[in-house]
Amino acid sequence: MIPVTKPFLPQMEDFNRYVSSIWERQWLTNNGPLVNELELKLQEYLNIKHLLFVANGTLALQLAIKALGVRGEVITTAFSYVATSSSIAWEGCVPIYVDIDPETFNIDPAKIEAAITGKTKAIVATHTFGNPCDIDAIQAIADKHKLKVIYDAAHCFGTMYKNKSVFAYGDISTASFHATKLFHTIEGGAVFSKDPNLLKILAGMRNFGHNGPETFDKRPGINAKNCEFHAAMGLCNLEHMEEILERRRTLSYHYYKRLKNFKVSFPKLNDNLDYNFAYFPVLFETEELLLLCMKRLEGSKIYCRRYFYPPLSALPYVIKTELPVCEDISRRMLCLPLYHTLNTSDLDLICRILWRVQNYQEPVVINKRKIKIDISNRHINPINGHSFP
Ligand SMILES: *Cc1c(COP(=O)(O)O)cnc(C)c1O
Repeated sequence: MIPVTKPFLPQMEDFNRYVSSIWERQWLTNNGPLVNELELKLQEYLNIKHLLFVANGTLALQLAIKALGVRGEVITTAFSYVATSSSIAWEGCVPIYVDIDPETFNIDPAKIEAAITGKTKAIVATHTFGNPCDIDAIQAIADKHKLKVIYDAAHCFGTMYKNKSVFAYGDISTASFHATKLFHTIEGGAVFSKDPNLLKILAGMRNFGHNGPETFDKRPGINAKNCEFHAAMGLCNLEHMEEILERRRTLSYHYYKRLKNFKVSFPKLNDNLDYNFAYFPVLFETEELLLLCMKRLEGSKIYCRRYFYPPLSALPYVIKTELPVCEDISRRMLCLPLYHTLNTSDLDLICRILWRVQNYQEPVVINKRKIKIDISNRHINPINGHSFP
């Protein structure tokens, strides 16, 4: 079986060494030494001044919205994981969707201003698949309209933009260290900000609003802290980051080579970028072709995933919005398997199956309908993503 992703696991001995030290100290959680060590090592690794390790990436988003005092409308993208929208709604704000750019799949800055009203307070944008948004354009709009900017940078560990970690941008950036992410602590996440005052607020909020054993901040807090065991996993995994990033790069280039001239396109990567290859998204020409490929792959026990389908604008608790680009992309986008232990022969098999579908167009049964796809004279999508040097 080849899943779309598998978590990276360090050597068990390495993890056990940390576990033994936890047993010796009997300090399991509440800002323990391993949590501190992880925060310091992450700061060093990412070359970033401050970050707070939190329980997960969803709480990181919620803390960001709360700490910035955002209430009202929040401009966001529907092409993301549900947590991007659910955290906005959970914080009592209204997600307002703006369509995405057809080449980068990130929120389209040219469409943001039209969505701004007197109630707009913030922009929550996802750096989709680890590829940074048009950060300068978004910041210019935010400055002009006095909006806060939060980046859902859940996919971005290891991505550098203009020679800085992409976590350095926005009023607050958030990361997820969930087991499926490139760097993980099993469950976990982080918030990043340059503003010392905001960091203080965030740190208090992370720990029930305590600012001393018997005293509390003026606003309520929540329990968003993380524990020694998760920090131990992070410390183990951090040792392997170069290897993890290198392996993703190698596998991704292998895919590009095997899928050269295959009728799919790839995201257009931002300039000034050192990319982490967090995912391997491919954009098919049609949904039919995507479904056919998925079906064929599943026949060989290879499981891809439709990131992100359906668009978040289809959630039951949000304002329905027409987003032609997002809806179209969402139907045609598939993430192919990509993980540290994926081997190149499996990757070759995946690509061979895809080629077979494209070359032979066999009829298959999808949702009990027989579909025969003629792809003989279809044009290659002009959005042919580019720039993989
Ligand atoms: C994974 C993910 C999250 C949620 O992170 P958790 O740590 O699982 O809570 C949020 N946004 C995006 C875009 C994600 O991919």
